[in-house]
Amino acid sequence: SAMREARVKRTKTVCTFCGVGCSFDVWTKGRKILKVEPNTKAPANGISTCVKGKFGWDFVNSEERLSKPLIREGGSFREAEWDEALELIAKRFNEIRIQSGPQSMGFITSSKCTNEESYLMQKLARQVIGTNNVDNCSRYCQTPATVGLHRTVGYGGDAGSIQDIAKAGLVIIVGSNTAEAHPVLATRVKRAHKLRGQKLIVADLREHEMAARADLFIHPKAGSDLVWISALTKYIIDMGWADEEFIAKNVNGFKEFQESLAPYTLGYAEEVTGISKETLIQIAEMIYKADGTAILWAMGVTQHLGGSDTSTAISNLLLVTGNYGRPGAGAYPLRGHNNVQGAGDMGSAPENFPGYQRVDDPEAVEKFEKAWGVKLSQEVGINNHDMIEGIHEGTVKALYIKGEEMGLVDSNINHVHAAFEKLDFFVVQDMFLSRTAQFADVVLPASPSLEKEGTFTNTERRIQRLYQVFEPLGDSKPDWEIIQLVANRLGAGWNYQHPSDIMAEAAMLMPIYAGVSYERLEDYNSQQWPVQPDGTDTPLLYKDGFPMQDGKAKLYPVQWTKPLDFDEQYDIHLNNGRILEHFHEGNLTYKSKGIAEKTPEAFLEVSPELAEERGIRNGTLVRLTSPFGNVKVKCTITDRVKRKEVYLPMNDAGDGAVNFLTSSAADKDTDTPAYKDTRVKLEILQQE
Ligand code: SF4
Repeated sequence: SAMREARVKRTKTVCTFCGVGCSFDVWTKGRKILKVEPNTKAPANGISTCVKGKFGWDFVNSEERLSKPLIREGGSFREAEWDEALELIAKRFNEIRIQSGPQSMGFITSSKCTNEESYLMQKLARQVIGTNNVDNCSRYCQTPATVGLHRTVGYGGDAGSIQDIAKAGLVIIVGSNTAEAHPVLATRVKRAHKLRGQKLIVADLREHEMAARADLFIHPKAGSDLVWISALTKYIIDMGWADEEFIAKNVNGFKEFQESLAPYTLGYAEEVTGISKETLIQIAEMIYKADGTAILWAMGVTQHLGGSDTSTAISNLLLVTGNYGRPGAGAYPLRGHNNVQGAGDMGSAPENFPGYQRVDDPEAVEKFEKAWGVKLSQEVGINNHDMIEGIHEGTVKALYIKGEEMGLVDSNINHVHAAFEKLDFFVVQDMFLSRTAQFADVVLPASPSLEKEGTFTNTERRIQRLYQVFEPLGDSKPDWEIIQLVANRLGAGWNYQHPSDIMAEAAMLMPIYAGVSYERLEDYNSQQWPVQPDGTDTPLLYKDGFPMQDGKAKLYPVQWTKPLDFDEQYDIHLNNGRILEHFHEGNLTYKSKGIAEKTPEAFLEVSPELAEERGIRNGTLVRLTSPFGNVKVKCTITDRVKRKEVYLPMNDAGDGAVNFLTSSAADKDTDTPAYKDTRVKLEILQQE
């Protein structure tokens, strides 16, 4: 009623703008957000939030929100009722499934959606359609980290809690702009550094805020991290500084690993990475002396041809130095979106059922066949990179994308757009008519987190509930309801009344979520997986060994993969990433007025040396060209970047989008795009 509408309401929610998983109360009156109020009970953030969590929510009331399904008619869209849209989807999905087989269809979930929604998306693909072609955008960021951890320590998640990072004697941040991309987590490191004397080493191309604060900032040549990390590891072993007791008790494969390090002498590392031997020795000594080392990393590590291997090398170094299984130590891959961890946990991957149980493991197959009452495909599916290639080759005919702006955030987007145009049938589910949705045949209007219930799992494996703040806008619906409608039109007969029903099913099938339940997650309560059937959770992993053979971790030998070769006319290295004010490509935060006014467009960061050499001034308009496309962008001169390295933030949703420049080259183990392996040439178009 209007009376109720007008009351001030206070609802707990979980932030969707990064993987830290801040939770807070949202105060509302009608559809108006009065304020965001942090709460001491919030497990990841306490009373802290950043600018996005505090001010980033206007988009929920944006006039650009889709309130009705859209159906393509010729070159444009018309509004339709749900019934007509669902009927069309069911008809076309059925036709394509019969004509070209289930393997000709691809399903992409969103790591911004809830666990329950990702669970349903993979269930739709597997149970209803019969394909393992399901993926999510952690393919673009953190899948290599997950692989590196699975190889070495067995769980693909942060080794401890965010709180534990503050207890480390030494924090090493590699390829992560933590202060801007994970602000509240960075605050904990800043505080420990300042007040407790925690040591901080940062390795990056860019001298960002954390680099400027660090005790030691190193700038290795782009794509060379595996080399200096392996050289450190070798030096530590050669000096007799390895934690022999820990290794004897907890680690397999030492001898073979030690042999694999032979090429990584300090001299070789200096030559390849540009980091001097003295500096490498200094880092080795800092690790040796530290009471606990935690290594944090993100896309500067993973988005390379050898991203999985470098992640593996980090974990190897931590094993050799005994830095697992205690607070203030271990591996912390920092998850970008709010539910990257959860989307992976929920089996949104071509090789895994929920809970990282393999689709080609007969025992797992039997369990899921029994639960879902159908025969399942045991063939590992294709990931989103191969879906795009499959469309170009004619083997993939239909895509269903939920909440992913693949047409901007995948690499080499000219190539991706050409693929979208070739699809026989394309369904996009989103809040907005995104760049991706513009290619769709049917667009389904979805609701944001503030309009639904569910759970997210943050970077420290913490599962938290969000409560509904608003009713869905117009005819939009929560994603879990939409997927259920699509599945049931295809004859699935699902009957989930509430997201808690979905979690109950998932928990039954996933050992790492066994004791997760909505009752235990009420209000600000949370659980960190693995969660035992009795509800006991695990803030700190590996206290009692590793979930691998004989309960031991494994040192996993890896070798360096050189960055891509480019023609010498592309003489400038292009780096890319986030900035504080905007979330990812900016689809949401540009619709928040305050943020959009303050930071209306992306600027190319150019070093003073390069500016001098080319005559670039602040505001100069330049064209960047790579072998894959070009963008026009204005420059800003800053000594955050060095020499012939430029930095283009990804928050340009228009023709300045960085992925017009990136290539289709990818990490050899996961197909994660090698976004950071990009070179361009630069021409001045116009002086300010
Ligand atoms: Fe949201 Fe991350 Fe900022 Fe926390 S740190 S408020 S989760 S964007």
